[in-house]
Amino acid sequence: MNENIEKLLDAQKIDKERLQLVQNLEKGKIKLELDKTTKMINDSKVCLLSLEEEAKILEEKYQKIAKIVADTLAQVDKANGSQSEDLESYNNFLSELTRSEGQLADIERLIGQKTSTFKKTAADVMKATQMLKNMTKMYEEAKTAAAPKIQDLEKQFNEIVKGIDEKLLIRYQAVRKSKGFDAKDVVVPLTPDKRCQGCIMDVPVAMVNKINTNGWATCDECGRIIYQA
Ligand SMILES: [Zn+2]
Repeated sequence: MNENIEKLLDAQKIDKERLQLVQNLEKGKIKLELDKTTKMINDSKVCLLSLEEEAKILEEKYQKIAKIVADTLAQVDKANGSQSEDLESYNNFLSELTRSEGQLADIERLIGQKTSTFKKTAADVMKATQMLKNMTKMYEEAKTAAAPKIQDLEKQFNEIVKGIDEKLLIRYQAVRKSKGFDAKDVVVPLTPDKRCQGCIMDVPVAMVNKINTNGWATCDECGRIIYQA
């Protein structure tokens, strides 16, 4: 086997160990809960803003109808004062009043509902914010606890890859970076039926030849480093 590949395979083992630690942190229960709570708080804040907006609109509507009620009452008073016998317009005033008062009651009820939703959401946000504070602390503590081991593994990795073909190392780092916390292999063997073990795609004959000559080649499909085992 190619000497560079041999070293890189050893380094990959160390790198995967490091990634597993990073993954435990970044995809672990604490981080997931932390992200979930952050999202919940942000969504709730959007909800609170729109509730405020709705309350404002309802308040404006209420004022408008309250003014109609006041005007109608003034007209009723005027009609009474003039001793008018116009029963029809008096009845019209009354039905207008009843209708407006019904509308006012509806709006009051709606405002009551929105207010209680607002209060509940605001209380939830407060509780979640406290939880987030605790989770952030736990996450930071876990990160601090894992840091020395992660740094040590990074050091070991750098020691092993010292002096290997730079092109190979750059390729390895590029693929590794593109995979995030994924601890899967970047350096993979050519399978007996001439496939990339990473993505299971057929490797063309020309590339098989290159792997045999150079010791490795880059997979056209997934970018992994394929070597002859
Ligand atoms: Zn592949």
